[in-house]
Amino acid sequence: MRVLVIEDETELLGVLVQALREEGYAVDAAADGEEGLFRAQSWNYDALVLDLMLPKIDGWQLLETLRRDKKTPVLVLTARDALDDRVRGLDGGADDYLVKPFQLAELFARLRALIRRSNGQANSAIEIGDVVIDVRSRSVSQNGKAVALTAREYGLVELLALHRGEVVTRTQMYDHLFDENEDSLSNLLDVHVSNIRRKLGKDFIETRRGLGYIIDAS
Ligand code: CA
Repeated sequence: MRVLVIEDETELLGVLVQALREEGYAVDAAADGEEGLFRAQSWNYDALVLDLMLPKIDGWQLLETLRRDKKTPVLVLTARDALDDRVRGLDGGADDYLVKPFQLAELFARLRALIRRSNGQANSAIEIGDVVIDVRSRSVSQNGKAVALTAREYGLVELLALHRGEVVTRTQMYDHLFDENEDSLSNLLDVHVSNIRRKLGKDFIETRRGLGYIIDAS
């Protein structure tokens, strides 16, 4: 899953980017509203973390412009606990909000819920045959036994599982799994797919040649 964090407090931005990467997200960052809007319009992020008080273009204005053509789930960060801010944010198209200061664990939980809901997945566990993917604990088990996946492998399995029964193109995979600073070695999709097949069975992920990958094809 790939997220964009738009926050002008340098220190907080750094903490958020690092913490989200450690959680297994591909993360892009923007330090003002103009850059944030540009990025948010240019990519199909799985979610945005948006501070409201931003230089150049504030969070409300960004949201209003973004909502003309994108449904990207948005989690708003607000320093003020004022009711109007929250109401205005939610009315303006935000999907959820967090009041600063907040715990990272809460941010992670809200983000997971947002992404899950936007993919039409109400439960935190996705069952595909004998494989269970728990998006809350970011873990995978097969026949009740835990299967150790790397963060990258997990991300790939989760993306395919959220789109079960649909072909996910290589382009979609690149867009959702890797951030723009990633080196090309970590981008070797085929290597990740073959490692997952080794762990979960060769038929768990099917290749649709020239199109992409699919799991749970009927
Ligand atoms: Ca700010």
